[in-house]
Amino acid sequence: MENKSEAGSAGKTIFDAIAQNDLSEFKNILAQHKGGVDFFDENGMTALQHAAYKGNKDMVQLLLDRGADVNSGKHEYNYTALHFGALSGSSEVCKLLLDAGAKPTTTNSVGRTAAQMAAFVGNHHTVATINNYVPHSDVSYFTNIQGQQTEPYLPAFLADPLHKFVLGVNVHPVRLALNLQHTPSLLENAEKVSKVLELMCKKEMTRGSETNEVMAFKYHYLSYIVREISNIRDKQKPASDKDEKKHDIVEIFSKKLLKPGKDGVSLDLMDSFLKDCVREFPFRECTTFHQMVTSLTSKNPPSALSVINCTINGQRGFVDAIPYCSTCGEEKPAKKCSKCKSVQYCDRECQRLHWFVHKKACNRESSAPAVSTNAKANIDANELSSELQNLIAG
Ligand SMILES: [Zn+2]
Ligand SMILES: [Zn+2]
Repeated sequence: MENKSEAGSAGKTIFDAIAQNDLSEFKNILAQHKGGVDFFDENGMTALQHAAYKGNKDMVQLLLDRGADVNSGKHEYNYTALHFGALSGSSEVCKLLLDAGAKPTTTNSVGRTAAQMAAFVGNHHTVATINNYVPHSDVSYFTNIQGQQTEPYLPAFLADPLHKFVLGVNVHPVRLALNLQHTPSLLENAEKVSKVLELMCKKEMTRGSETNEVMAFKYHYLSYIVREISNIRDKQKPASDKDEKKHDIVEIFSKKLLKPGKDGVSLDLMDSFLKDCVREFPFRECTTFHQMVTSLTSKNPPSALSVINCTINGQRGFVDAIPYCSTCGEEKPAKKCSKCKSVQYCDRECQRLHWFVHKKACNRESSAPAVSTNAKANIDANELSSELQNLIAG
């Protein structure tokens, strides 16, 4: 069913409402209109495509809820809703479209996929979101009983949290540890989770022409991190049964990884931990593995973290001018150290985890002459909590 843009009140069309980001008018128009919502404008663009291009996730969601066809459209250059979402730079919109069945491999009239268009306009996070996308069925497949099994590899209640975990674009190990900590069900079932990730890795490598080496490596990598965190937890268990230790796993893990080497800057322990992970990748014949090894063994090699990030997320990795959280590598963190303002963090938790490293530099920076009148120049770890109180928005 096709509708011209007649649906509307007081002369305003759904396309006007989208163009003006007028959500309440948009809802009014949808409420008045019974039936299909694949409205076309005069250029063959659907309402969903317009909403995607605007990066308006509420409108996109409402249209999808009403059954809008995610792969519909008669745009003269064959752009899909996902192409428009990719151009908008809204990763959330792209995720909604992908969940609704948008095909990431569809190309426009110049042969470009949505991710390629996003890369073309510099929307790197969106590129990574699309390239890291995994259909829910790839995870829930393992909740089915296979062959002789009496129970599935993955209990059904873990399908959603594990799906969310594998969609993550930030592959910094500390971020992954924090994500796991925030999802206790995954952590409690770490053994099963890491096993399923290994199986997903194998599955990606045995898809024939659809083989996805990069995704296979990502699953291997995630499995490796989950196993490490679970090992730390197991070592912790006998020591005490006090509940207040809930931060310890991530803290131990990040202390290990973020500890600077002899030069005070390079993260030697993180590097060797991640190199071991690459070394353990079971598919050593594949191009992706060879590229990583070549890059890690080159003269002046990049850090293992940036090699892994480049492999999984494309050519860019914690390198350009965008600010990153000093703890977990999250882009454009919201907060900065209130004292020296020279490092940025997602939140207090990230600042807390990094304080054992940043403490010295912070004192040095903030005891420089210009700010030496500050009586708190010698802040120490005991004062950390009050320091944290002062965290300001960036
Ligand atoms: Zn962070
Ligand atoms: Zn500082």
